[in-house]
Amino acid sequence: MLPIEFIERMHQQLGSEAELLFRALETEPVTSIRLNDKRDTLSFACDIDEVPWHIDGYYLSERPQFTLDPLFHAGAYYVQEASSMFLQQVIDQYLPAESIVLDMCAAPGGKSTLLSQHLGKEGLLVSNEVDRQRVFILSENIQKWGNGNTIVTHNRAETFGTKCRNLFDCVLVDAPCSGEGMFRKDMQAREEWSVKNVQLCAERQRAILMDLWDSLKPGGLLIYSTCTFNHEENEDNVLWITDCLGAEILPVDYEPDWGIVEGYPGYHFFPHRTKGEGLYICALRKNDESFVPFSPKVKGTVKTMPVEFEKEISSWLQNPDDWAIRQSDRFTTAYPARYKDLIDYLSTFLTCICTGFGVSEKRGKGAAPQHSLSMAKALRKDAFPNVAVNLEQALCFLRTEALPLTEHLNLGHHLLTYEDVPLGFVKNVGNRLNNTYPNEWRIRKL
Ligand code: SAM
Repeated sequence: MLPIEFIERMHQQLGSEAELLFRALETEPVTSIRLNDKRDTLSFACDIDEVPWHIDGYYLSERPQFTLDPLFHAGAYYVQEASSMFLQQVIDQYLPAESIVLDMCAAPGGKSTLLSQHLGKEGLLVSNEVDRQRVFILSENIQKWGNGNTIVTHNRAETFGTKCRNLFDCVLVDAPCSGEGMFRKDMQAREEWSVKNVQLCAERQRAILMDLWDSLKPGGLLIYSTCTFNHEENEDNVLWITDCLGAEILPVDYEPDWGIVEGYPGYHFFPHRTKGEGLYICALRKNDESFVPFSPKVKGTVKTMPVEFEKEISSWLQNPDDWAIRQSDRFTTAYPARYKDLIDYLSTFLTCICTGFGVSEKRGKGAAPQHSLSMAKALRKDAFPNVAVNLEQALCFLRTEALPLTEHLNLGHHLLTYEDVPLGFVKNVGNRLNNTYPNEWRIRKL
């Protein structure tokens, strides 16, 4: 059942069209995925259709059991609600790849993986989540996506506002909201909905925006989005940004047959008009004024440890000069060399859950590859002997069970691949194969 007051409010907002929305909210949600460039083909046993506003977006006519697909765990695609992929249209228009971006409310990581893909080798993404549990899911998804251009952080908005003044070229606030646009997928969102909660969400959204506002450069891009329909959390907040924080609204191009409804300002996706869940999105440019650019005060403040086995570790990477390798305790991490001073500085006051990608761990007298390296697109695949596994073997590996491999393998680390996509490492220690898949990521139930 939809909440009565929600029905009344949507009647006021949409008139007689509200009935079409209510009917759409009682139908099955649509399944869609966004393909990673780790792979350029899809192999689902169902009909596939293109998402019109994202070149890598596809609708699936059925929802497969993604847990049973090794390619899902290898980051070959991300299961993302189709409307959210419209973010791509905004950034294609307004965000150069060479940008420093903050995704303030990032878990589980749909929009962050999309941003990370757009920034590629030129940009840097700070992907943040305040919730302690959700930040680890975010970190897992970012590592699996594998671009290495992202730091996953766990901080509050005010930390960015006070300590990263004028740093970001773009800030995305995909705000926690009353979730009306998820009423089809998420019954809990219906139960938790109330007019009071809509007001509380709107206030919280303004608090987040105000707290981080100083971290956005003047002239920088703010993208504000929610998955709710009401005006209080959407248009009213955007108008508050323009009036109280100082920004101008930017138009976003779209095709008339996509079914998008223009807000006053911004863009709405309604499930009775577009194939996807509810979304509101608006792009704004922060008013330009003179400012002191952010400068990392690195010299003398950040001490870095010498990297053990650096030559060997570098040989595991394609274009090793693109990556700064840092050692902390037994572990090494790689992150974009062009942003190394900035990242070193940010690491002094941000709670970093994952920085770039993990490369190695010191084991005995040598270095062993970390799982994160197998997910990274920077991995030089031929640095390790490759072992192609079938579905049964892949699922055993992902359950962290002993591997039923029959072929003879040399001693040492091997890269397992499934349909040519890296899945992780095993180590042949003579009498058995050690499975190095992270325990916390393992498949628990089938
Ligand atoms: N952008 C994500 C994606 O595309 O996968 C979805 C984000 S979800 C709509 C909103 C997120 O905001 C949640 O993960 C929630 O934990 C986080 N959040 C809740 N309260 C917050 C606050 N006060 N400041 C920042 N983020 C908050």
